[in-house]
Amino acid sequence: MASLGTDSLGPPPATSLESESNLGGDHMSSATVAVVGGGYGGIIAAKALEEFADVVLIEPRDTFVHHNATPRALIDPQWAEQLFLPYSGILRHGRVVRARAEKVEEQSISLDTGEQITADFIVLATGASYPYPAKFDITDRETALARLAETHSELRAAPSVLVLGAGTVGLEVVGEIVSAWPDKAVTVVEPGDDVVGGRYPAPFRAEIRRQLRDLGVDLRLGTRLVETPPTTPGTLAPFSVRTSAGDTIAADIWFRCFGVAPHSDYLAGDLADARDDRGRLRVTEHLRLRGHDTVFAIGDVTDVDEPKMAAYATAQADVVVANIRALAQGDELTAYQPADEHGVILPLGPTAGASWVPGTGLLGPAQTSEYKGKDMMLGAVVDRLSRPVGTAS
Ligand SMILES: Cc1cc2nc3c(=O)[nH]c(=O)nc-3n(C[C@H](O)[C@H](O)[C@H](O)COP(=O)(O)OP(=O)(O)OC[C@H]3O[C@@H](n4cnc5c(N)ncnc54)[C@H](O)[C@@H]3O)c2cc1C
Repeated sequence: MASLGTDSLGPPPATSLESESNLGGDHMSSATVAVVGGGYGGIIAAKALEEFADVVLIEPRDTFVHHNATPRALIDPQWAEQLFLPYSGILRHGRVVRARAEKVEEQSISLDTGEQITADFIVLATGASYPYPAKFDITDRETALARLAETHSELRAAPSVLVLGAGTVGLEVVGEIVSAWPDKAVTVVEPGDDVVGGRYPAPFRAEIRRQLRDLGVDLRLGTRLVETPPTTPGTLAPFSVRTSAGDTIAADIWFRCFGVAPHSDYLAGDLADARDDRGRLRVTEHLRLRGHDTVFAIGDVTDVDEPKMAAYATAQADVVVANIRALAQGDELTAYQPADEHGVILPLGPTAGASWVPGTGLLGPAQTSEYKGKDMMLGAVVDRLSRPVGTAS
């Protein structure tokens, strides 16, 4: 298994073809590739594709957002400014179009700006929505920073906090809050009977539960609220709610940390039937939309059966880049192999947390901090996005 070096944005996937996608700059200038979505998968694909094709990156945001670090941004709004990386500093040749794709067909994309883009190949990397503050659909940096600063001041003033959902995101948010403000009363409500959806081996889950207990977090598993809090999430306003266990929880602010929905409502024409009933894009082993030879999809928006992670979105980007080159050169296509076993890095603030690494097992706070907790992988992301394709970190 590859090391969890700076190249990794999470536990390493089964296949990484970085070496293949930098096969030198013989520019297939005739081919235009439109990449829809400039998140983790899209930006890595665009960056490698521009080495040999004409790339158009379509993205409504004015910067790349390292949203894997937003839990820390809640605690430290100044630090949050670093999460927004201008696309101009990432792509060297590619054209970035600040727009949202409203209609995507086999070889053409209609944008909300009215522009029409035609392309020989299309890569769909539009990800999935997630409740604020873990992800935000604010598309400009200044407004997003102002919103984060506002939420920060509301949270700082709140003596008690309720977090709904004990998945990796919910627990990262909890970890940041209790490490920054140990005196706050933090309660987590989770309908499931264990943390992280019961995924990952038992020793990892037991360690996370132990650390949450030691951090004084009130973890309510197998419990759901009988009503949604009457206040807006992320705002300071005392409330109380009843649980399915028959008791009442009082808090001053709450956050929803569950509920993911793929962004795929733009499919039209002969692509319309590529969505499954959960809105995910059905892809082949070569990451092409089923039934379509020149349209690819990567990341959270796909129906690839594995945890939805940036590490896998970027590994899929490498495969798609290799396959677009192969199609142009008449070479063999590469199949994406989802990992059999999945790892996870779950920091609970800068110095606590645990990780599970397939083949290695449980890792404690120190290594978890080293891998993510210390800088929320900002260094690894900036390094990966700023260095030329094919050069080691
Ligand atoms: C708080 C948090 C922490 C996380 N931590 C980790 C971690 O440590 N390691 C890890 O591997 N994963 C982590 N994840 C998961 C990871 O963030 C996702 O798996 C990753 O974002 C998937 O990448 P993507 O490229 O598929 O989608 P995204 O990164 O979500 O990018 C999708 C992009 O598409 C754009 N878009 C959407 N619709 C359109 C449209 N119609 N037209 C044009 N553009 C569009 C969006 O604006 C966005 O920029 C975390 C997630 C959260 C929320």
